[in-house]
Amino acid sequence: MVVITTQKPEEEVFEALEKWGIKKAVVVSCGTCAALCQTGGTEGLERWTEKLEEKGIQVTAGIVSEDVCDNRVMMKDLRKIDDELKESDGVITLSCGLGEQSLVKVLGRKYPKLPVIIANNTEFMGMTERIGRFYMRCRGCGDCLLNDTGGICPITTCAKSLMNGPCGGMVEGMCEVDNYERDCGWVLIYNRLKEMGRLDLYEKLRDAFDWSERGHQREVVFR
Ligand code: SF4
Ligand code: SF4
Repeated sequence: MVVITTQKPEEEVFEALEKWGIKKAVVVSCGTCAALCQTGGTEGLERWTEKLEEKGIQVTAGIVSEDVCDNRVMMKDLRKIDDELKESDGVITLSCGLGEQSLVKVLGRKYPKLPVIIANNTEFMGMTERIGRFYMRCRGCGDCLLNDTGGICPITTCAKSLMNGPCGGMVEGMCEVDNYERDCGWVLIYNRLKEMGRLDLYEKLRDAFDWSERGHQREVVFR
């Protein structure tokens, strides 16, 4: 699984740096998912260091960290560049939104006023087909339906996340959303269940998904 990120437009990042008055920055680059998406890693770090310096922003330190999204790893990695952090007025992260928030949390303990600017947009959790080709196949809904749908996720393969079969916008197995360029998720589910001789599961009526309890501030604590 890879958290898929794409690079924000450069102007947007530079606008954010200006808005927060950042002239000296530490750059933290994710060496795992963002490296695979070419939005982080060593290459991303070099690319951004060059761009920032061209615009007159001094890069006081640049690190590639294996787990920007892991508070413990960030605590360890940031300790090594504490002197540089002290003389910086911001941090730029080449990571996903999880990485950014991990940095905010860890840095917040010692440098609560230090802004962290994110240079990427987080797209989705990606299933890898091959390097450079990722698919959104799970949205982490917290109540997995795959056992009833032949292993195909209706939340992500149906453009409207419908729960009970195709809508009226399906034409010859294709979805109206995105101009009939993609398969209808519910046709995929139907075909799969039919192939498996389990159309009884297709007929099962499901309640609408309750996002009110799934969409925000969830946490899982293992004991
Ligand atoms: S139903 Fe879909 S979105 Fe929900 S957990 Fe399963 S795969 Fe993920
Ligand atoms: S056509 Fe199919 S995939 Fe598209 S929104 Fe309707 S049910 Fe979902």
